[in-house]
Amino acid sequence: LVLNELAKEVEENLRSPICCIMGHVDSGKTKLLDCIRGTNVQEGEAGGITQQIGATFFPAENIRERTKELQANAKLKVPGILVIDTPGHESFTNLRSRGSNLCDLAILVVDIMRGLEPQTIESLNLLRRRNVKFIVALNKVDRLYGWEKSKNAPIRKTMMQQTGDVVKEFKMRLNRVQNQFQEQGLNSMLYYKNREMGETISILPASAISGEGIPDLLLFLVQWAQKTMVEKLTYVDKVQCTVLEVKVIEGHGITVDVVLVNGVLREGDQIVVCGSQGPIVTTIRSLLTPYPMNEMRVTGTYMPHREVKAAQGIKIAAQGLEHAIAGTALHVIGPNEDMEEAKKNAMEDIESVMNRIDKSGEGVYVQASTLGSLEALLEFLKSSDVKIPVSGIGIGPVHKKDIMKAGVMLEKKKEFATILAFDVKISAEARELADKMGVKIFCDDTIYCLFDKFKSYIEGIKEEKKKETACEAVFPCILQILPNHIYNQRDPIILGVKVNDGILKVGTPICIVKRIENVRVFMDIGRVASIKNNNNMPVDYARKGQEVAIKIIASNPEEQKMFGRHFGVDDRLISHISSRSVDVIRTNYWNELSNDEKDLVLRLKRIFKIQ
Ligand code: GDP
Repeated sequence: LVLNELAKEVEENLRSPICCIMGHVDSGKTKLLDCIRGTNVQEGEAGGITQQIGATFFPAENIRERTKELQANAKLKVPGILVIDTPGHESFTNLRSRGSNLCDLAILVVDIMRGLEPQTIESLNLLRRRNVKFIVALNKVDRLYGWEKSKNAPIRKTMMQQTGDVVKEFKMRLNRVQNQFQEQGLNSMLYYKNREMGETISILPASAISGEGIPDLLLFLVQWAQKTMVEKLTYVDKVQCTVLEVKVIEGHGITVDVVLVNGVLREGDQIVVCGSQGPIVTTIRSLLTPYPMNEMRVTGTYMPHREVKAAQGIKIAAQGLEHAIAGTALHVIGPNEDMEEAKKNAMEDIESVMNRIDKSGEGVYVQASTLGSLEALLEFLKSSDVKIPVSGIGIGPVHKKDIMKAGVMLEKKKEFATILAFDVKISAEARELADKMGVKIFCDDTIYCLFDKFKSYIEGIKEEKKKETACEAVFPCILQILPNHIYNQRDPIILGVKVNDGILKVGTPICIVKRIENVRVFMDIGRVASIKNNNNMPVDYARKGQEVAIKIIASNPEEQKMFGRHFGVDDRLISHISSRSVDVIRTNYWNELSNDEKDLVLRLKRIFKIQ
């Protein structure tokens, strides 16, 4: 009996799990959210869905009503589910609050017709890194050829009404997605067949257009949460709260939108928030939510509350919030709490990110909407194949001051005078200043698109530089003259040679090295004007071991050299490198050289006494 009562107490004390929706662009995240949110309202079924700040709340009664076809006697112990409203944003998924994830659960949306896409994998990795449990919504099943729609039906029921051909195509596509997950190191299975949840991820076929599978999705989320997360979901009094966004609202000044995960917030509470200019200590002036959906809403007005209990999305108005950083924890200062300690704790979130800035002082400037999205972007840049150093960071919209900071690189390394703006607005003045100064801004709201834009910019610059310096690049080679292949002794010299080492390219300046009284002297012969292979065909280059005929034209007609007089078959022809040519090769062509060729550059450097 005691145990029973204890269990009951726990049940009554669960908060709503917080869920976010992730996936590739166009996989149907927004539609899916609309679908779980919209249908009931339009059709006047069990309502109670409330629009909150940054989130939508689905109460348990609503879920019970919508899943009655599915649940025999399922018990709903949580008050409902809180779904974060901005689907797909790393900004929100990556939010943490006091060390744990803000989101308890995630829905990873995959388009059944397209399978796993780059952003699906990006989301997947983020979820795995953060240890967030997720279910895969295999969306757009209604697009299978011949699909028979059955609005808002449970998936197994609707699957039984499909023809054999539809089922066959479904299985084929499901199989493909499962294989793709396998490639990512994950076992997956249809959710109703999955017996080892946690180890094997569950796949739930759905349509965000006709609503099939939506009941399954809702019930699954609730049951999964209350089965496996009781401890995490047990309501505690201590306030746990994360700032989602900082916004100006007419009549309220600067406000912060927060998700209250645990505890109660009250009007008049003293709070401390992490700010870009240090900790912000202030007092809650008002706690606001939108008016319920079925009420006439006057734009710009919010419903005030004396107090708000978790889990909820709310807007807080208070003095001095303009430098608050989205993605950090909001803390309520208790009566016996040490203020200095609280301030220090509030700044911890941002300090860990500051430590990731490149110590060399050279790198791009990165700006993101929240601390979480900034972290996600920094992690991505660090782990990408092309290393991109970061010299500065910012959170929130891009302003003139950010352009000034990025502009510092113009002097140091021009291509880094760049702002990578992830999911943030750019003020008109900032753009204007950037144009004037020559600071590049790349913006996008997905990490990989942003990264690709920057990558192709850098590659473009490299190509450009290569072209500009092409005539200065001298590739290393050592050539042996073939005795029976002297075609012309001078003006121009035409010889058969074997490439003993390195790579011979058209344009290479050629010299020979002589020792006079133990001192090395170089005699320039001229540039390689053309190369012909065994078949007498012109080629641009020849590699080690190849035998070719070359034509050498003197750089200075006054100083023409002659085969047989100035040099002979025993002399080796070598590329005449300079410190400038080595620089050009190093910056623009190094990756194209083989290890042998790189070694030869180093050997030639010694011969020519280049530091
Ligand atoms: P998001 O970028 O992931 O938020 O994708 P959206 O929700 O904006 O959907 C992208 C496109 O796919 C839109 O044209 C939707 O109408 C369409 N779409 C989304 N879900 C479904 C679905 O279940 N079935 C069909 N046929 N189309 C869908």
